[in-house]
Amino acid sequence: MESEELDSDLFANWVRGSKGLEYLQEGLQEFVGEKVLQCRDNTLQKIISTLPSGSAQHCNQCTENNLSPEHFNSTKACKKGTCSQKTSNNCFGSKPVGRRKCPAKGICSKFYDAIIDEHAFKDPLWKNTDPRTWCSDPHGWSYAKCFQTTIGPGTSAKDTDAASLLSIIISNKSIQNFVASSSSFYTARNIRNEILHSSKLEIDETTVCSYLDAFIDVLQDPNCLINDEASKKAVQKLKR
Ligand SMILES: [Zn+2]
Ligand SMILES: [Zn+2]
Repeated sequence: MESEELDSDLFANWVRGSKGLEYLQEGLQEFVGEKVLQCRDNTLQKIISTLPSGSAQHCNQCTENNLSPEHFNSTKACKKGTCSQKTSNNCFGSKPVGRRKCPAKGICSKFYDAIIDEHAFKDPLWKNTDPRTWCSDPHGWSYAKCFQTTIGPGTSAKDTDAASLLSIIISNKSIQNFVASSSSFYTARNIRNEILHSSKLEIDETTVCSYLDAFIDVLQDPNCLINDEASKKAVQKLKR
């Protein structure tokens, strides 16, 4: 075979891999969207149920600049040993000036700590979220974004890329409970990085087939996705 032809085959495979990622995203979005909303509502409901009756049920007054976490001790900045978050430098409590507990009976402060508890690595991403909408976001997405590993613009599962949807499943302990085995989700996330960071935009035939099979594995998770309509459609596209 001419080397030019071979190169164009390798590029065509790379395009197949990227297209596969798009289908993976389509297959995951309904499941993740639904579970995120369910988990956000459960978390909020658990907090509200401990408050005296007649208390406010939500808050929109707390921001990344004024909210103190529930675990934060107002006399000392959070640091390793006193902070609930693994990377204590990233905790709101590590920069204590100007902070107060949530005025709505502490809902957002408690919500903050609940997000750390729900995070599989106790290390939420706060730079990507707006606490003012934790209670009200119609898709629960300001909550979901705490479980991503990188900053992204999405406002729902629909406009969030496959890598971030996979990260939300991997990092959110409540969502993970719906999944049979998280290892296929890790594999798919690594593959996504390999495809998008491939500097020559080339993949050989065997590798691209193994990538597409790995995406199908995720979408056929026997506990959560095998009967999901969006996921079934995406699997058909991947098989084609
Ligand atoms: Zn802290
Ligand atoms: Zn609040």
